[in-house]
Amino acid sequence: MMTTDKVSIDTIIAMCKNRGFVFQGSEIYDGLANTWDYGPLGVELKNHIKQLWWREFVTTNDNSVGLDGGILMNRNVWVASGHVGGFADPLMDCKDCQTRTRADKLIESHDENINADGWTNQALEAYINQHHLVCPKCGKFNWTPIRQFNLMFETHRGVTQNNTDQIFLRPETAQSEFINFTNVQRSMRLKVPFGIGQIGKAFRNEITPGNFIFRTVEFEQMEHQLFCHADDAMAHYEKYKQKIWNFITNTLGIRAENLRFHDHEKLVFYAKAACDMEYHFPFGWGELNGTHHRGVHDLTNHQNLSKKSMEYLDPMTNQKFIPTVIESSQGLERLFLAILCDAYHTETLADGDTRVVLKLNPILAPYQICVLPLQKKGLTETATQLYRDLQQQFTVTYDDAGSIGKRYRRQDEIGTPLCVTVDYDTLNDQAVTIRNRDTMEQTRVKIADLPAKVIDIFTSYNKKKNIL
Ligand SMILES: [Zn+2]
Repeated sequence: MMTTDKVSIDTIIAMCKNRGFVFQGSEIYDGLANTWDYGPLGVELKNHIKQLWWREFVTTNDNSVGLDGGILMNRNVWVASGHVGGFADPLMDCKDCQTRTRADKLIESHDENINADGWTNQALEAYINQHHLVCPKCGKFNWTPIRQFNLMFETHRGVTQNNTDQIFLRPETAQSEFINFTNVQRSMRLKVPFGIGQIGKAFRNEITPGNFIFRTVEFEQMEHQLFCHADDAMAHYEKYKQKIWNFITNTLGIRAENLRFHDHEKLVFYAKAACDMEYHFPFGWGELNGTHHRGVHDLTNHQNLSKKSMEYLDPMTNQKFIPTVIESSQGLERLFLAILCDAYHTETLADGDTRVVLKLNPILAPYQICVLPLQKKGLTETATQLYRDLQQQFTVTYDDAGSIGKRYRRQDEIGTPLCVTVDYDTLNDQAVTIRNRDTMEQTRVKIADLPAKVIDIFTSYNKKKNIL
């Protein structure tokens, strides 16, 4: 059997659309750029990722609790965080072909040793003029002046459109954790170090084209902020780097050879350390998540603007201090894409046939089991009953359309780990055939033993190096 795990992003996009994972947003109206809708299988996969992350970072994580903050917040949250003043892209347009370009990215692509992040418009323009950087689309040198374009989606509350009513869709979830730090600490009587986790939507008005769901204007974040003493912060930072690595490789089952850490050499002024974990996507290495040592920057800024104390009183030492934040920030859609790219395999079988198989970890698969009656005639009632019984414990689908071989292939393509086939012998021996997605082996199992057998197969999955 020949296997390849090489896949193009166009193949993944087509598979996602055809199999009900991801559809283009507003497709019947020709779409809305960089927006996507998650279909019946996509929402199941997304929910499974979220449940696993929540379990690992909140419910089973020492001293950690959850939060579900609002998308809309007081404008001052974004003043204190620096997003109102500074969260902007420097954009300019080519007067000849109207292509819009980020000035800092143009400079960085000209000289990869430069980090133009944070340069003033004057500095950016001076460099572009001095080095005669032309339009990447048409090659002309005819730029408009640079304008700072804020990345936050802005809306207005009420009927009038004046500045006092201006509010923003949150560009990140983290600020909810910071502004609720004292609420959470006091109500739950938590002692530092403790963590707050949140899963929620965030919005960024970016013009950068997206590589499918890798970069979108609306996205979901899974973030955990640990509040700790400055003296212990680097140890926690290293621990959370290891934690996200373990989550992605061991819990989710993404292959380690497609992952790497990238430590930031140039840090924003307040950060003490930062690193990304990257996945080798079909379009190249891309950031999956970040672990950040943010110092006391966030809580200090909110204390300064709100005039509310963000200090913590250590009951053991009687020392008062603003806790240091170690952040673990994960983009849900990027992880979703990495999981699909990693699981996608094409196999040429012994008889020359080819099959596409999505080798998903059973805990992630949209459906864990498919129940199939070999024929509709005389078997529907038994198969339907088995389907209903298995649904009490597993996520199950049912398929009675087409040849059995075609039905197996359909389940392979969406990553269903096990197919359970009801045939005419079932009526006499109360047994069914389990067909394994990865090995295609078939075994006969008594219906009474089926749930225990399924659990056994699933729990041994990771021990056998990701093979069913
Ligand atoms: Zn141009």
